[in-house]
Amino acid sequence: MRRPLIAGNWKMNLDREAAVSLARGVGAAAGDGEVDVLVCPTFVHLDAVAQAVNDANVHVGSQDVYFEGNGAFTGETSTDMIKDVGCTYVILGHSERRNVIGESDELICKKVHAALAAGLLPILCVGELLEQREAGQTMDVVKSQIEGSLKGVDAVQMSKIVVAYEPVWAIGTGKTASPEQAQEVHADIRSLLARLYNQELADGVRILYGGSVKPANAADLMACGDIDGALVGGASLKADSFAGIIEAAASA
Ligand code: PEP
Repeated sequence: MRRPLIAGNWKMNLDREAAVSLARGVGAAAGDGEVDVLVCPTFVHLDAVAQAVNDANVHVGSQDVYFEGNGAFTGETSTDMIKDVGCTYVILGHSERRNVIGESDELICKKVHAALAAGLLPILCVGELLEQREAGQTMDVVKSQIEGSLKGVDAVQMSKIVVAYEPVWAIGTGKTASPEQAQEVHADIRSLLARLYNQELADGVRILYGGSVKPANAADLMACGDIDGALVGGASLKADSFAGIIEAAASA
């Protein structure tokens, strides 16, 4: 039985006061723990947000991390640093990091290994561009991102990883993949994990959907057999809309 995870990716939004206030609102909405709830503020607000959700059933994660432990890496942040301020999860390979910042599967893979070695739970994001979907390449792209980002990851390590399928054309655009489109890719990802590892492991891995998830479409997505939660951008920035998605996951 896979426990649902609803994760909010706050991206480069909110000031400190707004982040703390949103974190308190999410804490109040998180309920008694039927669903794992995660918030991922920008690095500079991690500490304050972790303190704000301290007594609530809410995990805190960062939106990225660097693979080196310490040293001359200006602008980067290490796994120990994010753990020190309360992170248990880390988002890796988000489409904005792949497509805007230019991160490769090779770099993401190094980050996955560093996160695992530090005891963090990575959320590995994958997903195709619109032209790739239209060219019928969705699963080729997703397969190559998964294989490239998971090189050298063994089955025990894989059991700690959450996969997030986020079609790039659906992120921040208001266009959601239909539940059928999302379920098809999620089922293919699970089959791929069964081939790369084994069926039992694949059956235990949580696969989140991301891309314009909101309260109005969350229930239909969460009702799909291979969709185990959501990675939410825009709708995670308001406590009431994020709460609506948590509720949809709890009643799925
Ligand atoms: C995301 O940031 O991962 C995301 C899915 O954003 P949005 O929900 O705004 O599409």
